[in-house]
Parts: sequence; C-alpha cells; structure tokens
Amino acid sequence: MMWFFRSSSFLFLSILLFHQEALISKNSDGITISKIEKNYDLQIKARNLAQGELILVKIIPKKKAVVDLDLRLTADGEEIPLSTIGVNRVGFIPISPERKPGPLLLELFSKILFVKYGSKKYQLDIKKTDFIVIQKQSISLDTKYTSSNLSKETYQFIEECSKAKSEAFLNKSESQISSGFQYPVKEVYITSPFYVRRDYNKKKGRPHGGLDFRGAKGTPIYAIQDGTVVLAKEMYYEGNFTIIDHGNKIFSYYMHQSKLLVKSGDKISKGQIIGHIGSTGMSTGPHLHLGFKIGETVINPESVLFLSDL
Ligand SMILES: [Zn+2]
Repeated sequence: MMWFFRSSSFLFLSILLFHQEALISKNSDGITISKIEKNYDLQIKARNLAQGELILVKIIPKKKAVVDLDLRLTADGEEIPLSTIGVNRVGFIPISPERKPGPLLLELFSKILFVKYGSKKYQLDIKKTDFIVIQKQSISLDTKYTSSNLSKETYQFIEECSKAKSEAFLNKSESQISSGFQYPVKEVYITSPFYVRRDYNKKKGRPHGGLDFRGAKGTPIYAIQDGTVVLAKEMYYEGNFTIIDHGNKIFSYYMHQSKLLVKSGDKISKGQIIGHIGSTGMSTGPHLHLGFKIGETVINPESVLFLSDL
C-alpha cells in the first residue's frame, strides 16, 4: 500500500489519529479515508466531514472469520447500527447541523478482535458549515398559513397530521439499504439549499430542514433508496406527503406532491416512482422538498445523495 494525495487540499484536513497510517484522499468527489488494520480495512466516505453531513463508515473484513464477528460501532458514545452489505459492515453517522465543530470519536467494539481493550478508537475532525442566512422584508404565502384565527376543524386537522407524522417516524425496522442512493428527480436544479435561514424583518426564521428541487407539476419523483412507505397522506403543511423508512431509524420524506402513487405499507425499490411534483400544502410554487433524517437528526440530503456507491 502507498500514500496518495489527490489534491493539495489535503493540507487543510486535520484528521487526528488517522494521520500516521491512513490513506486519505480529498477532492471534488469528497473525502475517503482508509485505515488498514490487520483483520479489516476501515473506510470513511463523505462529501465533507462537517456539520449537517452524512458520514459512511465501512468495515471491510480481510478474513471470513471477521465477517461473522459481533462488531459494534459508536460515534461520540451513540450507537451506530451496522448493516451488512455483501461481506462488508456499514454504518451511517449523521452529523447534526447544530453539533459543535471539533473532534468526533468513533469506537469499534469486538472482544475477539481487540482482546486487550475490547475496542479500537478513531477520531475525525468535524468542520463548521457556513449555512446561508438571507435577510428579507416579507413573504407572500396563502393566508391559510399565516392567519392566526384558524377554524376548529383546521386545528384538529393540523393536530391529526402532526400525530400521524410523529407515529410514522417511530417506526423501527431492520436495514433495508443494499446499495447507494439516487436522486429523486432526473433534472436536478436546487432552488433552496439545506439549512438556509430566512430572517423576516430581522426576526430569526427557522432553518430549512431539507432540500428543494425545481420541477414542473406532474414531474415524476423517484425513491432515493429501497424501503417501506410508513406514511402517504395529505397533510396541512407538507401537502401530499410520503415518508419512506429505510430501516435503522433512517427516513427520507417527500413534500408538496400533486399526486401520491404509493400507500403506507408498500415496499419500495430505489428508483421507483412514488408520486409527482406539485405545490400542495405550504408551498409557493411546484417543487419537491426532500428531507432526510436518522433518529432525530436532520441532515443535508445532498450529502446523502453523494453516497451513490456504498
Ligand atoms: Zn423545502
């Protein structure tokens, strides 16, 4: 094995424990870090090691015996479920946009592999992301969403929607991910990035929890990954809304559709058409709002879609 640096930007990386023996490459295609161990190779893949990004950890066994080992992974003490893809074990680490930049401790546990300490530690350096803040004067939205005097029926509907959404996100299933992610639309044009914040009349707005794709009404929306539909419903704010469970508390969700083409309980394959782009719910024009979360952590869908290969 030899060192390889794909670009001079390597100098900007500060990967602490990796620096001695790791193979690191960073270019426009993101970051790949390989750590060669005796029994396995550890590979880290991400668009960026930064706030709001998804980090893929892959354990590639060198011996058949390692494949069946009871491996566990934690990130800053939080359990990261490992799924099996081929002979590899993979885990997805969501870096919250609200997390403080700085070191992230990964710990891989195995009583058999690490006889002396029971685990092996690695450290990554999480960088700051400069999310966009836009100062605005006002916003034009349907008065349906801005009026403070909503009818009793509307309140009840909002309540019912919120309950259905929380229940859908409570689903727990085994990993349904067997390959990389794909974009939800054929022609990609992003109209609103992740975590952009619009402050109206100096009042702090809420960061944008997903990614908006431009698209004419009726444009097909493709599932970004295999999974099971846990909600497909008309909602007050989200409009026609679909949540897909990918297992291990990993969910993708699709808002404002003109048409829902799947129903709760449906098994979905990556690339399957699940609905059409629209402008239903709290929306000012036809677009797809794609959201992605792991547990309670929302992350930038662009960092997810970057992982087209696992
Ligand atoms: Zn949006």
